[in-house]
Amino acid sequence: MAPRKTVGILGGGQLGRMLTHPAALLGIPLLILDSGEYTPAKQTLLAPQPHSHPDGPFTSEQHIRELASKCDILTVEIEHVNADVLESVEREGLCEVQPSPRTIRLIQDKYEQKKYLAERGIPVAPFEGLPSNPTEEDVVAVTKNLGLPIMLKAKTLAYDGRGNSPLQSTHSKDIQASLTHLGDRPLYAEGWAPFVKEVAVMVVRNKEGEVRSYDAVETIHRESILRVCLAPLRGEKGVNHRARELAEKAVGHLEGAGIFGVEMFLMEDGSLLLNEIAPRPHNSGHHTIEAALTSQFENHLRAILSLPLGATALRVPSAAMINILGSSSSMDPVHAMADSALSVPGAAVHLYGKAESRKARKMGHITLTAESDAELNERLRTILFAQPDADA
Ligand code: ATP
Ligand code: MG
Ligand code: MG
Repeated sequence: MAPRKTVGILGGGQLGRMLTHPAALLGIPLLILDSGEYTPAKQTLLAPQPHSHPDGPFTSEQHIRELASKCDILTVEIEHVNADVLESVEREGLCEVQPSPRTIRLIQDKYEQKKYLAERGIPVAPFEGLPSNPTEEDVVAVTKNLGLPIMLKAKTLAYDGRGNSPLQSTHSKDIQASLTHLGDRPLYAEGWAPFVKEVAVMVVRNKEGEVRSYDAVETIHRESILRVCLAPLRGEKGVNHRARELAEKAVGHLEGAGIFGVEMFLMEDGSLLLNEIAPRPHNSGHHTIEAALTSQFENHLRAILSLPLGATALRVPSAAMINILGSSSSMDPVHAMADSALSVPGAAVHLYGKAESRKARKMGHITLTAESDAELNERLRTILFAQPDADA
C-alpha cells in the first residue's frame, strides 16, 4: 500500500468527527485545526506522532500555516474558513488544498454563489442584491420584482438557517423585525420558492475528474433547519435521475476534488431549482454511513487522496436520518432521544460529543435502515414520538 499522505482538516465539529472514522480504518493520518482541545473531531482520533492537533481558529493565518507545514493536503469541514490564506498556501506550494480555495471563497458568499450558478444556466429561485445596511425602502423595492413572501438572507456566515428571515409583508414592523433579526450583515433577497419537496444530492469528484453521485434524498426542514432526511427520494423515479444530473452539472462548474452537498427545491411542475452547494460533507449525506456502500466521509478522503472512489449505491431499500437537536442547555432530552432509539431495530445512534447543548444546536443524529418504506415509516414514528418537540 502506498504511504499515506497526512490530511489537515480546517474545523473540528461533527463533520470532522465523522471524517476521523474512515481515516482510522484506512490508516490516514489526520490533523484537526479548531479552537479547543476536545472538539467533537479531536475526541475521536489522536494526532499522528510527533504532532498534536493544533489549537486555534480555522480563520487564523498563523494556525493555517502551521497546519499546512505538517500536512500534505488540507481540506475543510466548514466553508467559513480563511480562503485567502488557503489560496496563498496553495500558491506558495506549501500544501495542496482540496477543494480549491476559489470554490470555498465562492460558496462562502451565497449571493455570489447564486449569481455564478445562474450565469452558467443552473436554475435557481429569483434573487436580488441589497445595498449594505438596507433601508425599509430598499427592501420594499426588491419585493416589486420578487413579490411576497421573500426570504431575506445573509450573504455570508450562514448555516442552519441562522442567516435567514422570511418576510411575509412590506409592513414597516415586519421589515424592521427581519432586519433586526439578521443584524449588521451583508444581505440579499430571494423570491419565495413554493416547493413541494426539498431534495439533496451528494456528489463526489476526484482529481482525475471522475464524478459519482448518490441517490437523491428528501430533506425535511422546519424553521430553515434540517430535521429529517429520507433516502432514496420517494415517488417518481425520474426526479431522482434529474436531481443527480443537475447536481453533477452544478458541481461541474466548481474547481477541486472532494464531496459536495447540493440542495434543491422540487417544484409543483416537476422542475428543480438549486438552493445552495456545500463544498464538504453535508447533513443530507449522513445516512450514507450505514445506508450506502461507501459513506460520504470515506469518499471525500478517497477523492482528495486519489484513492479509488467507492460505490455510492444504497445498501438498503429505505433509510432515514433524524437530527437530534438541542432543546435547551440540558443534555437530558438529547440523551433521552438517543437512548430511546437504541430499542428500535435498524437504528444507529451518533452523538457528537459537544460539551454544551443549546436550542436548535445539532447534537447528534440517528440513522434508520429498513427493508421497505412501510417498515421505515413505522420505525420513524417510534423515534419521532420520543422527540421533546414532537407536537410542534
Ligand atoms: P444550511 O444549514 O443548509 O447551510 P443555510 O443557513 O445556508 O442552511 P439555506 O439553505 O439558504 O440556509 O435555507 C435553509 C432553508 O430555508 C432551506 O432548506 C429551505 O427550507 C428554506 N428556504 C431557503 N430559501 C428559500 C426560498 N427562496 N424559498 C423558500 N424557502 C427557502
Ligand atoms: Mg448553507
Ligand atoms: Mg441550506
